[in-house]
Formats: sequence, structure tokens, C-alpha cells
Amino acid sequence: MKKSVVVLVAAFVMVLTGCVTTGPGGKKSFVIIPVSQELAIGQGMAAQVGTSEKALADTAWQSYLVEVGRKVVRVCDRQDIEYHFTVIESDQVNAFAAPGGYVYFYTGLLREMDNEAEMAAVMAHEISHVVARHGVKRLQAALGATLAYELVFGGDKGGEALKAAVYVGLGLAFAGYSRDAEREADDFGIQYMVKAGYDPNGAIGMFEKLAALGSGSSSIFEQLSSSHPETSERIENARKEISEINPRPKNLTLGRDRYQKMVKRLPAKAPKK
Ligand SMILES: [Zn+2]
Repeated sequence: MKKSVVVLVAAFVMVLTGCVTTGPGGKKSFVIIPVSQELAIGQGMAAQVGTSEKALADTAWQSYLVEVGRKVVRVCDRQDIEYHFTVIESDQVNAFAAPGGYVYFYTGLLREMDNEAEMAAVMAHEISHVVARHGVKRLQAALGATLAYELVFGGDKGGEALKAAVYVGLGLAFAGYSRDAEREADDFGIQYMVKAGYDPNGAIGMFEKLAALGSGSSSIFEQLSSSHPETSERIENARKEISEINPRPKNLTLGRDRYQKMVKRLPAKAPKK
């Protein structure tokens, strides 16, 4: 082999190995946008969300969400980033995660829940998207080769590629992921919530609620109705996965009493105009 070819191949291998990241369950996958850029994109998106949405002015609720979030983070497969959790005051029935570990819950969704395990189910699902870097993968595909290249190899003078990534990322935040990504987030979500000490039936309760809401509501978490797998299929998969948890940890909790106290503190739903 000629020397130049060897150098080229070596460089290519270096790039490849540099981009293999670890997802849920230690599974390796290929993402070219580096973590440093993922964090910058996440920060940019969080700054935008901070100006367009209103954080709930109840520190007890904000700390409650952080507490449940940290329980799940502690058992998840991604510890290289800092996670952030925010309750947004809005009647939208929604929750989403931005790249880099920014997780948002809307009061409209929290109001629909009965217990902490249901909140943990959504939390674990969103954290699984962050662990698997689904948001970054989706963004990478949407940005196209040129912008992705600038983000990866520098040359992003004036931060234009980063600005574009934040803008595109915000547009995608509510667009839903592929069905495979959703299945993966559901699967690992159940494992994480159980490891964090929650009764996985919280996930079933949540899916059933979303199914009931789906027919009449246009704003469902990550637009579940349009791109998520059919709810009946999700429930079936969840039941199967729950039945296979062996040994089943003792003392799994639904956390209903505390949640019921907290839910009473949420602001009332705005009357329909
Ligand atoms: Zn999802």
C-alpha cells in the first residue's frame, strides 16, 4: 500500500473510532457529531426554550422533578454529561428531551398522571433518548453533510453551523423519533425505571392514559399519536418486558401518596376560550 493511502486509511479509522458512542445497554452506535457539539447544541436549544416557554415558579415542583430525574440518571448508561430537568407551565400534554441531557415536562402532562412511577416512566423514556443520542442522530440526518461536516471538523467560523443546528433541533424537538428509536426508548425506559426502584406498571398506566388522550388531543408528548408505535403495541411490548424481569427487585414503588400531594400544587388548567 502506498504511504498516502495508509495515512488516509489510518485517519479514516481514527475518525470512525472517535465517533462510536455507547448507547443503552452498552450498545455501540455511530454518531459523527461529537459530545462537545452535542452539548453546545443542547445549551443553545435550552436558551431558546427558556425564552419561549415559562418555567413553573414552584421550587418544590422543580426539585421534585430533579429528584426523580437523578434517580433514573444514576442507573442509566450515560454518565459523561450533566442532566438538567425543568417543569414548564403549559397546558400542553408534553415532555421532551433536547440533545445534551435537557429534559422538559409540561404541567399539562403532570396533571394527567396519578403517581410518581408514571412520571418516572416518562422520565426514563426521555433519558433513554439522551443515552442513545437519538436527538443528535436525527439532527445529523436533518442537517445534511455540509453542516454536519462543519460541526465535526471545525471550520465553523462565526458559529453559523451551530446556530443552524440549534434552529433545526428546535424544529425537530416535537417531531417525534423513528419507531425504532421509540421502541428502544420504551425498552430501556422500563429497565431504567425498575433499576431506579419504580413499579414498571407505571409505564403501562402512562401508555393507557396517552391512548385515551390521543383521540381528542393534538398536543401529546413528542406527538405520540403521529409517529410513535401504536399504543396497543407499546403496551404489549411493555407487558412482555415486565414479565421477563427476573429477578424482580423487591420494594418497587408507585409513589402515589406523594404524587397526589404534589399534583394538588400544580396551577389549574386554563379555561377553554
Ligand atoms: Zn420518545
